[in-house]
Amino acid sequence: ISRFSIMDVVKTVSILSRNHAKVFLRFYSNKQSEHLLKYRPSSLPPSDEDLERLRNFISKRRKLFVLSGAGLSTESGIPDYRSKDVGLYARTNHKPMQHQDFVKSADKRKIYWARSYLGWAKYDAWKPNAAHVKLAAMEKDGRVEWHTTQNVDGLMVKAGAEQLTELHGQMRRVVCMRCNGLLDRNVMQKDMDALNKHWSAEVLGYGPDADVFIREEDVIDFNVPACRKCGGDLKPNVTFFGDNVPRSKVTFVRSIVDKCDGVLVVGSSLHVWSGYRFITQAHELGVPIAIVNVGETRADKFAAVKIDALCTDVFRAIE
Ligand SMILES: [Zn+2]
Repeated sequence: ISRFSIMDVVKTVSILSRNHAKVFLRFYSNKQSEHLLKYRPSSLPPSDEDLERLRNFISKRRKLFVLSGAGLSTESGIPDYRSKDVGLYARTNHKPMQHQDFVKSADKRKIYWARSYLGWAKYDAWKPNAAHVKLAAMEKDGRVEWHTTQNVDGLMVKAGAEQLTELHGQMRRVVCMRCNGLLDRNVMQKDMDALNKHWSAEVLGYGPDADVFIREEDVIDFNVPACRKCGGDLKPNVTFFGDNVPRSKVTFVRSIVDKCDGVLVVGSSLHVWSGYRFITQAHELGVPIAIVNVGETRADKFAAVKIDALCTDVFRAIE
């Protein structure tokens, strides 16, 4: 074999293996995105008996207090942390942002905002599902006295709810950590657009709360905008893990629970104390509790009615 033909063989082999690698990568990333798109937990439809019990429960209440959680929104397609098999904890090693990390570290803030910048358009476009819409309608016709949600996605507001406490804040607002001024998240998005015209990164997957997964090295050149008024650092106006819900909010919701005559838990395992405390309060007051959630909750033992089914399936069946 001449020297020339050996080079040809080497070239051919390297082209073949590169194509093979490309095909493998494409196959692998398709598999991954298919997996990551399944955020909705599976469940059997509710039984007629269960639905009848819930209708009865709701019709007897004059001051119904609703507490909702991530399960309400996963059915819109929004990923959550704790859903069995499909939640963030079940499918990745990613950890949610901790309050102290965000407040203390400029690097952590940069990672957070770079990822949120890429995740925002998709997050902002989520629409309320049948359960959000029905719960908002139940407020309008007087069947729901007050709704407290642990979700930060603003979907109950989009559905038209007004008698509403967003316990952990809302992603659509940004707060300055220096002057406490509030900013619309879409305005900040425009500031990020302007500062990052030449920046891009490949999105490898989606997490809860507008988070996306990107390569660490892609974050380096991202530029984080500051407060338009004072130049301070910006934070989404939500309660991160490791932070406390503002006391005034807790006091207000507690006063509502004091006066309510029934509690309806929708789409929450009540794993987090910030919401669970209202359920223990209601239980101590002897207020009856109904729960709609896929899987066990911490309050199943207190519940007069428990339906283990998807919120949308249940609320479509409530007239
Ligand atoms: Zn400021």
